[in-house]
Amino acid sequence: MGFFDETFEKAKDMFDVAAKKTEEVAARGKQKYDIASLKSKLSKNYEALGMICYNQINFDDISDEETKLTVMRIRENIKDIEKANAELLKLKNKKVCPACSVGVDPKSAYCNACGAKLN
Ligand SMILES: [Zn+2]
Repeated sequence: MGFFDETFEKAKDMFDVAAKKTEEVAARGKQKYDIASLKSKLSKNYEALGMICYNQINFDDISDEETKLTVMRIRENIKDIEKANAELLKLKNKKVCPACSVGVDPKSAYCNACGAKLN
């Protein structure tokens, strides 16, 4: 085998190794993406189950401390979101309807969403 043949063979081997590595990296990347997608689906299903349970549960019937704490944290989250929404409405120069929490014009006598009388 001549010098050029050997050089060509070595280059071809190196190319094959690089191509195989690239293929492996791509396969691993796809596998990681698939796993992340499956985990995301699992999380959404846990979330949906949690929402179903949260809506069915009666706080006074909960005996498990961890479940009680989680329900209390969810209630806090909901309150914090309501507070943040109220702040946002203030920034938009609107006030919150006490009946339905929709943003209303501060000069309105009645809520245009639910019809409640406003002060
Ligand atoms: Zn209202």
